[in-house]
Parts: sequence; structure tokens; C-alpha cells
Amino acid sequence: MPYKTFGFTEEQILMRDSILGLLGRVLPDEMKLELDKTSTFPEAAFKAIAADGWLGLPIEAEYGGAEASNMDMAVFIEAMGYYHYGVRSAYMTTAIYGASHLRFHASEAQRKLMLPPLIAGELKMCIAYSEPDSGSDMAGIRTRAVRQGDNYVINGQKIYITNAHVSDWMVVAAKTDPDAGRRGLSLFLVDSKSSGLTIRNMDPLGSRTSLPNEVFFDDVTIPAENLLGAEGGAWPMLMRGLNQERLLLAATSAGHCMRILELVKEFAINRKAFGKPITAYQAVSHKLADMYMLTEGARQATFHAAQMLDAGEDAVLETTTAKIVATENNYKVADMGMQIMGGAGYMAGEMQRLFREARLGPIGGGTSEILRNVIGQRIGL
Ligand SMILES: Cc1cc2nc3c(=O)[nH]c(=O)nc-3n(C[C@H](O)[C@H](O)[C@H](O)COP(=O)(O)OP(=O)(O)OC[C@H]3O[C@@H](n4cnc5c(N)ncnc54)[C@H](O)[C@@H]3O)c2cc1C
Repeated sequence: MPYKTFGFTEEQILMRDSILGLLGRVLPDEMKLELDKTSTFPEAAFKAIAADGWLGLPIEAEYGGAEASNMDMAVFIEAMGYYHYGVRSAYMTTAIYGASHLRFHASEAQRKLMLPPLIAGELKMCIAYSEPDSGSDMAGIRTRAVRQGDNYVINGQKIYITNAHVSDWMVVAAKTDPDAGRRGLSLFLVDSKSSGLTIRNMDPLGSRTSLPNEVFFDDVTIPAENLLGAEGGAWPMLMRGLNQERLLLAATSAGHCMRILELVKEFAINRKAFGKPITAYQAVSHKLADMYMLTEGARQATFHAAQMLDAGEDAVLETTTAKIVATENNYKVADMGMQIMGGAGYMAGEMQRLFREARLGPIGGGTSEILRNVIGQRIGL
């Protein structure tokens, strides 16, 4: 990964080298393709990441974590996105999405109970917000949670829930008051083994090693203390994690751009057509130059947003911009990479896998259109 380090500290460079070294040992290239082909969660890599303490990176020291800064997390996730999109998803659903809800919204008792095993890799999580009729428009969620004595009873359906099939706990958004719009939305911790819960794998273009799932709730009964925060209080809780989520999705895509550029450059230098390496043709070399610029843009937007967040700025514009720029650049880089590799890119193999993974960025974690709406509001439209 011979790229610019944007003033990373020695510790950050060491951290990057160490996660790349670990992944190189536990998830070699041939295994990446095999896991993708068989739609298998990268369990061995996840366990190895846990064993080296990485799941605790963003978590407070009192629960056994390392309290990493946003810049640390961006460096770490960029390296994972570079190495393997799927193992990065496996990491993020538990250590970022799941753990943030525990850190920010769970009771002290729940934090003490769940964060240490989560850091140890004994407890996986996922987040279940999206529904067939409400993706971007979360206020339209229809899944219902009804208080009955000391319990809540949940009925409804979720869709596209990443890693639900391997999770131990899910954070579920459900309506506790269907007439109160956003203020009727609550968050719950639901044991994935609960009776009445059915989880069904979906068949996505990419993300095959961290599969999305349909999740059905049929009178799923959970203890009332599994409510996170206050009843009806989900909206501000959902908003709280957005800056870091957008930053880390940007970091993922920045890393993914680097991997594609590296692969395609190597291919182009060695591929000959009409007696010359194809890099001798400006139509190819300019594409590679464009891929470099798009990669650089993704990285600059990402690390700039991380610095702003660590400086305590509001940074909504910067994290949102970074997410759009990095994910859209990632897809453009993948498309150009595929063109340069020709038939070798289109067939099953590394380039095809990278291309399929790259398409998710502008859809997941807030679509590019919704995020442009956010930017529009922020610049006063
Ligand atoms: C592989 C994968 C994994 C996912 N993992 C999870 C997960 O773990 N948990 C989870 O809860 N969800 C998950 N999602 C869901 C994801 O967050 C949603 O797909 C995303 O929020 C978009 O929702 P939607 O697909 O329903 O599209 P819709 O909201 O129906 O949007 C369809 C199109 O209309 C556009 N659009 C909608 N409203 C507006 C508007 N106001 N202005 C302009 N354009 C608009 C959108 O940008 C999009 O292009 C995942 C999705 C995928 C594909």
C-alpha cells in the first residue's frame, strides 16, 4: 500500500501495516474469491481481528477498548477497504454500527455486559432499520413494538440487513406510536435467536461475504429493558452516529479505489497489444491518471473530514461530501479499471469482484441523492 500518508502518526502507520499484515495471513487472495463465490462470512478473519484487539479500537477504555480518534478509525478502515470490502463490512456492522448504539444509548449494565464480549469477538451485531416500504424515509417505518407488561412485542419486516444471519444481537428500529411520525420511533436490542424471528439471506450484486438479509418479526417478545434510551427517542440517536458512519464509508471507498488502481496499473503495464504495453496508448494511460486523481480526491475528502471531526467541528458538510465523493469516485475508478482490463476484468476474478463491491457505496448508508439533499439544506437552499 505505497501511498501518501497525509501526515499520519507513526502509530497510525504501524496500525495500518499491522492490520494489512494480519489480513494477508488470514485472508489470502484466493480465499477472497472463494468466500465471494460461496457467499460466506469471513469468520476466520473476523476471529483473528478480534484476537488482536481491533474490534475494541473505537470503544472506551473502561470496557477494554482503545478510544481511537476519527483519524485513527479512518486510517484503519481505509486499510480494510483496500484489503477486502467484505471483511470491512464484517468489522463495521459489529464494531461501529452495533457498538455505537451500545456506547451511546445502552444502559451502563448493558454496556458492561455486552461490550467486553463484543471486543473479544464473541458477540456479533447488526442494525435493522430498512423496510420494504421505507429505506431512505425512515420516518415511514412500519414495524410495530407494543408494550405488554414487562415486555415489548415486535411485529413487522426488515430488509437488506447486513450480517443479520451471523449476528447475535440486532438493533431494531420500530414504531411505538404509529401516529407520532419521527417521535413515534424507538430502538431495541433484539436477541437474534428470539422465537418468532426469521432471517433469510438475499442475493446481492456484491457484499456477498457480508450478506444482506430479510428479517421477519412475528410476535417477537423482548424484555422492556432492551429499549435503548427513551421510548420515542430513536431519531436523535440515529442522527448521532451519522458523521462517523459517513466518514468510515468514505474511508472504505478511498481504500477500495487504491486497490483497484494498484491492480489495474499492474495489469496495464504487463498487457501488450499491437506490440506494445497498453500503457503506451494515451487512451489507457490517461484513464490511469484519472483513476489516480479520483483516488486522491476520495482520500483528501476523507482525511479532511476526519481532521475536522477530531478538531470538534460540526463537520456534517465535510463528512457528507466525503461520503459522496469517495463512493462515487470508487465506482468511476472501478468502471475505468474494468474498461482497461477488457475481457480479463469482465470475467469472474478480482476485477469483477471489486467492480461489484464498488456499486454499493452510492446506495448504502444514505444514497448519494439523499446526501445531496443534506448538502443543499446545509448550504441554505
Ligand atoms: C447491500 C446492502 C446492505 C444494506 N445494509 C443495511 C443494513 O445493515 N441495515 C439497514 O437498515 N439497511 C441496510 N441497507 C439499506 C440501505 O440503507 C437502503 O438501501 C438505502 O437507505 C436506500 O433505501 P432504499 O433502497 O429503500 O431506496 P429508496 O429510499 O426507495 O430510494 C430509491 C431511489 O429514490 C431516491 N430517493 C428517495 N427519496 C429521495 C429524495 N427525497 N430525494 C431524492 N432522491 C430520493 C434514492 O436516492 C434512490 O435512488 C442496505 C442496502 C444494501 C443494498
